[in-house]
Amino acid sequence: MGEAERGESAPRVRVPFYCANKHEVVPSFAHEAAVPDEWDCPRCGFPAGKDPQNPPAPPRTEPYKTHLAYVKERRSEEEGRLILDEALAKLRADRAEVRAFMRANAG
Ligand SMILES: [Zn+2]
Repeated sequence: MGEAERGESAPRVRVPFYCANKHEVVPSFAHEAAVPDEWDCPRCGFPAGKDPQNPPAPPRTEPYKTHLAYVKERRSEEEGRLILDEALAKLRADRAEVRAFMRANAG
């Protein structure tokens, strides 16, 4: 009892989805499962829809670039700060060395 409802013997529906790059992906769903409106294309990562004439627009192109630019900006800012910190640390170390030298030779 219940064996036939599980695994491969369970009825499945295959639903084709199409992405903006004209890729076709045909995932299969359990018969009783809700079929989503969109499916991530495994080839390009774009969302794929059920209408081949009107695939969902790739939403990541623009925001992704902006985000990447933001990350790059942030990183160079952090790198710049790191270099400055390093330079300051070196300067302080040099000064401490000079002070120690002068102190050693003062008396
Ligand atoms: Zn695709």
